[in-house]
Amino acid sequence: MQKYFLPLLAWLLAGCVSSHETIHPPETWRGVHLWVDRESRAQELIRTLPALAKAGANTVVIEVNYSFEFQTHPELRHKNCITQKTAHALAAAARRNGIRLIPEFNCLGHQSFGDRIEPLLQAHPEFSETPLSVMTDTNFYCLSWCPRAPQVNKIIFELLDEIAAGFEADALHVGMDEVYYLGMDDCPHCHGVEPGVLFAAQVNALHAHIVGRKKLEMLMWADRVIGPKYQGYSKFDNARNDTSAAMDLIPRDIVMCDWHYAWRQTYPSVPLLAGKNFRVWPAGFLPLKAAQQLSDFSQTQGTNVVGYLATTWNQTTITNSPSWPPIKEILPRWKN
Ligand SMILES: [Zn+2]
Repeated sequence: MQKYFLPLLAWLLAGCVSSHETIHPPETWRGVHLWVDRESRAQELIRTLPALAKAGANTVVIEVNYSFEFQTHPELRHKNCITQKTAHALAAAARRNGIRLIPEFNCLGHQSFGDRIEPLLQAHPEFSETPLSVMTDTNFYCLSWCPRAPQVNKIIFELLDEIAAGFEADALHVGMDEVYYLGMDDCPHCHGVEPGVLFAAQVNALHAHIVGRKKLEMLMWADRVIGPKYQGYSKFDNARNDTSAAMDLIPRDIVMCDWHYAWRQTYPSVPLLAGKNFRVWPAGFLPLKAAQQLSDFSQTQGTNVVGYLATTWNQTTITNSPSWPPIKEILPRWKN
């Protein structure tokens, strides 16, 4: 009986998997990054996906963060969060339109926006790398969690697992950008430890969970690992707090989303990352001329450059995004 049962089980499972099959990485990643931070925006994206596909997009990164109907930690949900039901509907709509959906959850940095503290540090101020009051004292506008805070990874992994399952994703974008506070003298866990070592430890913990245990692909923003010698970049798109040592301490199968918004003749971080054998996904924004330049430059940088990611940062609505020039004019330049 077992002789027949196991193949039958395998066949049934295969059928089950294929009916929920995710869209696998395309040859050329023509991406759009959107803030999908509330239920209404998820609904709007479902309606817009056919037009985005028509505009050339085959990958959409949705920045969700705490705007999801978490079951393990309902206390960490944003108000107006995306329901489980809508997340699955969005995943199905993406598949129908041949679009790979990659949810993003900002890890480590971006635990506040302006004076709004994100739910994790509201619920657990003891996880903050700095006293919460520090953000009123500085131009750097977002708080970090402490990568060595006991229990922080356990909670984050539970949130990531829920997001991956809810959006039926085969990849997660973990943020990791703009980490301005790390290895602070007044942090009891990190005092005296090099920021690059702390940063790499957080990346590696995420990788061990996402790639190692969950068998998903992992993406992150590259700005903390490309410094400090490329001083031509701004203090925002290149770390000044010496986290760049992390570049040689983290796995090469992470997709590096290398965002730069200013016009430059060249973008040296693209060949730097590609030369280290990371896959690089250059990400532009506005002005259009700079985005075109980043795109054109990146197209000359070899096969480790996987495509182009158009970030939007609310400068277009989701509905209008398919005709927004940085999407409409640049994505079609990236052929398969
Ligand atoms: Zn710390």
